[in-house]
Amino acid sequence: MPGLYVHVPFCETKCVYCDFYSVEGMDREAAFLTRCVEEIDRRGDALQAKETFTSVFFGGGTPSLLRAEQLGALLSALRRNFTVAEDAETTVECNPGTVTRGKLEDYRALGVNRLSFGVQSFHDDDLRFLSRIHTAREAEDGIALAREAGFENVNLDLMFSLPGQTPARWLHNLERARALGTTHLSCYSLTVEKGTPLAVMVERGEVRTASEDSDAQLYELTMDTLASWGFAQYEVSNYALEGYACRHNLTYWRHEDYLGFGPSAHSTWKRRRSWNVSSIRAWAEQIAAGGDAFSGGEDLTDAMLRAEHISLRLRSEGIRRSVFQKMFGSDIVDDNPALLRQCEASGLLEISDDFVRLTRKGMLVCEEICLGLT
Ligand code: SF4
Repeated sequence: MPGLYVHVPFCETKCVYCDFYSVEGMDREAAFLTRCVEEIDRRGDALQAKETFTSVFFGGGTPSLLRAEQLGALLSALRRNFTVAEDAETTVECNPGTVTRGKLEDYRALGVNRLSFGVQSFHDDDLRFLSRIHTAREAEDGIALAREAGFENVNLDLMFSLPGQTPARWLHNLERARALGTTHLSCYSLTVEKGTPLAVMVERGEVRTASEDSDAQLYELTMDTLASWGFAQYEVSNYALEGYACRHNLTYWRHEDYLGFGPSAHSTWKRRRSWNVSSIRAWAEQIAAGGDAFSGGEDLTDAMLRAEHISLRLRSEGIRRSVFQKMFGSDIVDDNPALLRQCEASGLLEISDDFVRLTRKGMLVCEEICLGLT
């Protein structure tokens, strides 16, 4: 079932490692809201979509900078133009330094039923290094406020392989997340993205990144620890208690359609992918001029769909051979017998009559296997 995404492109300050499109401060907030509603109305008119959307995701940026009435205006526009399921999973990404109990209660009254907190670490020195705006204490307080406001479906983003991070320090983060009653965890390794302040720091030798061995050790610690606490790993970096897998994430990984609004947002709709311009100013000007805000697009060929299906399904629930056969007219195992059987013999893949799945060991080399298959 398809999903809806709104990119809210504001942050209080930029974090040193972040390459998502966002700007510091809320100077252009009013224009953003007006144009975003306009964009949603226009796409709604153009597409006349009959499908029921089962998830809505406000990402960014820092959507939790929006007041409830602002978020409500965007939600109303989505509901006015698209059929949004009554029980749709509706997520707001939150920066712990930007929430109050009142705001979260108001979000809940609007129908928001899932919060995703960018916490990254429960150590203040890590948070300073990452230039997060909150302390560990504030992160804990933010999550407690979410509970008091009635949210039970709460994700935390945590980051491992931070400089100097020991297994004990990482384990402390996982333990704090569990103690706070989180139902979902996204655990990513620190990645040095081109063009970020962190990339400059690494280039100058001011920051040393973790070795591959240390990264793998922390990743394995994550998988083992969370499995022992009952969190199912349903994607390479995502873990959930039963019933709390993120419906919106699954839309992407199941290769289902989604529509995105706001600067830099991507959409995939009926075998057409398009992406909005990554600039608030240019995006707003394009919308104000009466058009769409795309800066590019492509029709998805069978070859592209096949490659994406392999990499998206392999990193999540696995490739269902019968579905693959129906979609692409061949069997994934027959197409790649040598590589797949070798990976199976090495304990990286499980191959059954109807599934090809990564094993726990295979998760460590997911990218390499995908590259070999696509
Ligand atoms: S708060 Fe999130 S989106 Fe904003 S700069 Fe930091 S990591 Fe990027």
